[in-house]
Amino acid sequence: MSTIEGTAGAAGTAAPSIEYDVIIIGAGPAGLTAALYAGRSMLKTLVLETGVPGGELLKTERIEDYPGFEHIDGWELAQRFESHARKFGAEFRTGVTVTGVRKLPEGGFSAHTAEGEVFRARTVIITAGGTPFTLGVPGELEYAGKGVSYCAICDGAFFKGHTVAVVGGGDAAVEESDFLTRYVEKVYLIHRRDELRASKILQNRIFANPKIEVIWNTVVTAINGGPNGLVQSARLCNVATGETLDLPVTGVFVFIGFRPNTGVIEGHAAHDQMGYLITDMNMETSIKGLFAAGDVRAQLTRQVTTAAGDGTTAAIAAEKYVTALRTLPPAAEPEIVQTGGYAA
Ligand SMILES: Cc1cc2nc3c(=O)[nH]c(=O)nc-3n(C[C@H](O)[C@H](O)[C@H](O)COP(=O)(O)OP(=O)(O)OC[C@H]3O[C@@H](n4cnc5c(N)ncnc54)[C@H](O)[C@@H]3O)c2cc1C
Repeated sequence: MSTIEGTAGAAGTAAPSIEYDVIIIGAGPAGLTAALYAGRSMLKTLVLETGVPGGELLKTERIEDYPGFEHIDGWELAQRFESHARKFGAEFRTGVTVTGVRKLPEGGFSAHTAEGEVFRARTVIITAGGTPFTLGVPGELEYAGKGVSYCAICDGAFFKGHTVAVVGGGDAAVEESDFLTRYVEKVYLIHRRDELRASKILQNRIFANPKIEVIWNTVVTAINGGPNGLVQSARLCNVATGETLDLPVTGVFVFIGFRPNTGVIEGHAAHDQMGYLITDMNMETSIKGLFAAGDVRAQLTRQVTTAAGDGTTAAIAAEKYVTALRTLPPAAEPEIVQTGGYAA
């Protein structure tokens, strides 16, 4: 376990303008679910979102694994999440980027925005998600969602019987290559070096899988589409020989890293070696009263369902924290008590 050094704080020390029970940073599935539960618990709730509500849902064309919907477009699910949260009274500020979250010595937190505003709350839930690293090659952006993917669990089932490329050489690339062979005919694993970074046990699994072929010392330099507007091939370049090749594939899965959006936290918050925030079972970080939910949190997988589940727990825990605060002297730290009950 290590700690994150926050980079924020440029917004200065201006007096907080408004007081809330809870501020939620990020309006993706985790933040919107937390807003729903916090609002319904009668907490005065503010959601701060740099873009528009929806998070990664807005980059997802079609979702087939959210219970209750055999399939739904990402934007529609985002709208449903948002209107449900608003129904229970959560306030939204969109188009504002949080640059710093500070725990105040007198108790509570302040959230500072790039726009120069300061908001104050008794507790904060960080649901800022993360950003997958991209290749930055021509065609990648154009064909995102049209063959280019950053999530095998999400999109693998759309490639039944296809031939795809996976880019990367770490655990994620290797594990997801193996996972994809449940659906696809063939996986080319494209790696820029002559050995993989992934753990030996995962490497052994893919070397034993006849559907996977590793292409060594090679990078993707472009992704090309066909007349149907979908990915048709990936242009490869061998870094040792300079040789190029158009590899016919209908999917390019990119697993070259993911950066959790934790930089707004001032002070030290425990995180794993990849930078994901470590929480306890209440979604509380190592900073008392600061909760984290969704993709920003260290956990087994990152899906809409897990983000919504985390958001639920975080909001219920935040409510218990705020309730406990009311009975304690200023700057005291409440312990969240597990009641084992169902939230109504
Ligand atoms: C292309 C793609 C397809 C996917 N398909 C599926 C699928 O089919 N099924 C599935 O279950 N999952 C899918 N996922 C994964 C799923 O979308 C994520 O696990 C989920 O959105 C995580 O929710 P979140 O709320 O934790 O984070 P996010 O959705 O990333 O939301 C974070 C929000 O925080 C905001 N934010 C970040 N920093 C700041 C800041 N400093 N100030 C203010 N706001 C900030 C962002 O703008 C964003 O709106 C997919 C992901 C991708 C990228």
